[in-house]
Amino acid sequence: MLRSAVFLTFIISLSLFGFENIFKYAEVKIGSTDDIRFLQKNNIDIDRTSLGSRGIPLDGKVTVYVTQEQYDLIESRGLSAKWTPLEVMDKLSYRNNVSIGDSMLIWQNRYPEICQRIQIGTSVQGRPLWVLKISDSVNVEEAEPEIKFVSTIHGDEVTGMEMEMFMIENILKGYQAENDTMRFIVDNTELYVMPLFNPDGNANNTRYNANGYDLNRNFPEGTYYDADSVNAALLPEIDAMIDFTSQHNFIMSTNYHGGALVANYLYDIDFGVSNYAYAACPDDPHVTWIAYNYSSRNAPMFASPYFNDGISNGSEWYQITGGMQDWNYRYHNVLDLTLEISETKWPSYTYIPGFWSNNRESMFWYISAVHKGIYGVVTDSSTALPLEAEIVIAGIDKIYSTDPDCGDYYRILKPGTYSMTVSASGYISQTIDNIVVTDNTGVFKEATEVNVQLVKDTGISDNDQIPTGITLEQNYPNPFNPGTKINFSLDHNEKMNLSVYDIKGDLISVLADREFSKGRHTVEFNAQDLSSGIYYYSLKNAPGKEISKKMLILK
Ligand SMILES: [Zn+2]
Repeated sequence: MLRSAVFLTFIISLSLFGFENIFKYAEVKIGSTDDIRFLQKNNIDIDRTSLGSRGIPLDGKVTVYVTQEQYDLIESRGLSAKWTPLEVMDKLSYRNNVSIGDSMLIWQNRYPEICQRIQIGTSVQGRPLWVLKISDSVNVEEAEPEIKFVSTIHGDEVTGMEMEMFMIENILKGYQAENDTMRFIVDNTELYVMPLFNPDGNANNTRYNANGYDLNRNFPEGTYYDADSVNAALLPEIDAMIDFTSQHNFIMSTNYHGGALVANYLYDIDFGVSNYAYAACPDDPHVTWIAYNYSSRNAPMFASPYFNDGISNGSEWYQITGGMQDWNYRYHNVLDLTLEISETKWPSYTYIPGFWSNNRESMFWYISAVHKGIYGVVTDSSTALPLEAEIVIAGIDKIYSTDPDCGDYYRILKPGTYSMTVSASGYISQTIDNIVVTDNTGVFKEATEVNVQLVKDTGISDNDQIPTGITLEQNYPNPFNPGTKINFSLDHNEKMNLSVYDIKGDLISVLADREFSKGRHTVEFNAQDLSSGIYYYSLKNAPGKEISKKMLILK
């Protein structure tokens, strides 16, 4: 039922935004929830930023984007409406697509080792879509987490665009000045910054692209997902973002907006969840934690009178379909945050330095978040080659994967203790328990490193069935460093040999080789001189029948 409703809304909104329709801002006085329902029923685009928590209109009115025809429809219901043209202030003080592209080129020439200007596509009116990549060895793909900072998908919401340009400048200059944080970011992160996603809308002082589409409502998102369904002629900006995202393994993104002060987190909509109800994504505790960390470093946002701690679940605020945030997470495992960072969409430029000081710390925390949680490399235990593997954290119903080029993975998690299962086709799955992620708020690079070597599903494997009357238990703790205990039981007296082997089958150590009595026995093993990895322990009787199990040393 809801699935088809979502689909229907999508079709209707597509047909509404025709070429001939011009959408402008209008303010509508709201008397009751029925009025809101009337607007929604007629597919009138309500600006989410004019709504407070749970969709309650701020100051008893909402901002809508309507054509003359829709405006007349609103008035015909007896609602009081008035046109409210966007105030475009100090336009010449702001950057635009040309000056952004020029700055990126200057930066690329000045810092050629660490930044590179990339054009990921072209807008409807032929404007290049610029991205600046910042990383050490900028021309090489390294085993580093990738993050994208995207702003101004709505062309008239310009604060985030300026913030991202300030951020770039800070990182590049800081790197040159050997600032520790900036060095850390550049050396350990692949950062992609896209300050102006909708350059046509920006040039034309509008929210929409030049074909009249709201880019944050037209991502292929929902039950009908099909990346190819995006009409590249009508939505070249979205088409470019899809290609760009597919070519990378981004783990985080931003989506900067203006019109309110709130960090809006996943989901904006989910199947079976009604409007204004909370729609938790599988990573809910973690995305809430990310949103909280952004907001709590931005004093005006955190003090919001409308949103508790300046954060909100998207669906609980006001559902939208086709948003970039949900698309990023659902189809690319990218943790995206929709950041509304100025109450005015296009503020006077004199306020921009103030916005920068409010957002600066939050933005750098956000970059640091890609270095929080668990990270590592998954390789084949015998060849040491990187593997394309699946990473699942117990309790989170979402499969993440390694980047097959380098075998690296990054799992952003709030502080806590986790159990992680790593699997790859043709290999024995491995579960690692008790992985501790510490509270490293504000500090760069303290993620917990867990490198995993998967063993091919053929050849050596656990074997605990051959001898009767002999039981070999899993060692505890496991993984371990440096000590662990191995227990086994016998239902008769017998001479037993307990030995440790490495992954290639070479003998590492004989732990016991003697007569054992009937009962349960414990043998301790100390791996002080061994390196991290998978080892086997094997219990063998005199006729050579044996049981073996694997264990993991993690240093
Ligand atoms: Zn917006």
